[in-house]
Amino acid sequence: MSNIVQELINNLSYLSLGTVKFGRNQGVKYPKAFELPTDSDISSLLSLAKDLGVNGLDTAPAYGLSEQRLGKLIQNHDDWIITTKVGEEFENGRSYFDFSKKHVEQSIQRSLKRLNRESLDIVLIHSDGNDLEILNNTPVVETLQLLKDKGDIKSFGISSKTVDGAIKALEVSDWAMVTYNIENQSEKPVIDYAHKNNKGILIKKALGSGYLQPEAALEYILECSGVTSIILGTINPNHLRYNVDIINNFNSSR
Ligand code: NAP
Repeated sequence: MSNIVQELINNLSYLSLGTVKFGRNQGVKYPKAFELPTDSDISSLLSLAKDLGVNGLDTAPAYGLSEQRLGKLIQNHDDWIITTKVGEEFENGRSYFDFSKKHVEQSIQRSLKRLNRESLDIVLIHSDGNDLEILNNTPVVETLQLLKDKGDIKSFGISSKTVDGAIKALEVSDWAMVTYNIENQSEKPVIDYAHKNNKGILIKKALGSGYLQPEAALEYILECSGVTSIILGTINPNHLRYNVDIINNFNSSR
């Protein structure tokens, strides 16, 4: 593993901020409908996150305006470690997927521009659920590897939906983003594989997209070895503080 990837794994905070709700309120499955936060709301949340020691942000082209808004609001703050994705687009209320070389290259150039970066920290293949089909039959991995060799991206991996797909991706890349929570441990073998092989693991849906009780849900994940960062989605500063407190209290009681 390159030093750059190891540094990202070592430096990423245990809690990262998921930003779906910064950019999109259509076609999402959260418990309550919501208005998109204002620029000022997002700026305050980002500065609170920084104060609380959170340095990771997770976004994607498929999260509506999320990438554009982040790029505008974090200008000159290069110390965020940003994860973005490639392959899923969300337009006119619907998702479509494109893992062709041309689309992947264009998507990366667009993310560099939107996020105002010279190189993207972490890029994940935004799977539609057919992980193995994407890995075996599209040029997405070789294209991302070329972009990594060229320096446009520092590391890459997959936001997966299957164990076989995530492990296959980890054999040739750096990260997997998996669903893992108190109610769904089906992707745990991916975490174990990554732990053994020194790869990065990002957890999505730690709170079951808002349907689980935060304390029990977070403490459950804290017991699991091999997790690099939990990507928690929130636009509520009190929830962010509360979630960070749960993690700090857990760690200080050990
Ligand atoms: P999540 O983090 O499990 O849940 C987020 C929901 O929990 C939000 O509606 C949030 O509402 C609520 N919440 C957070 N803290 C809370 C607290 N202390 N008390 C009560 N409610 C709380 O699920 P997610 O948003 O689906 O996933 C997290 C992130 O993972 C996303 O933002 C995204 O970055 C990433 N993700 C990736 C994929 C993928 O395929 N790659 C798929 C899903 C998600 P409030 O805003 O009101 O706090």
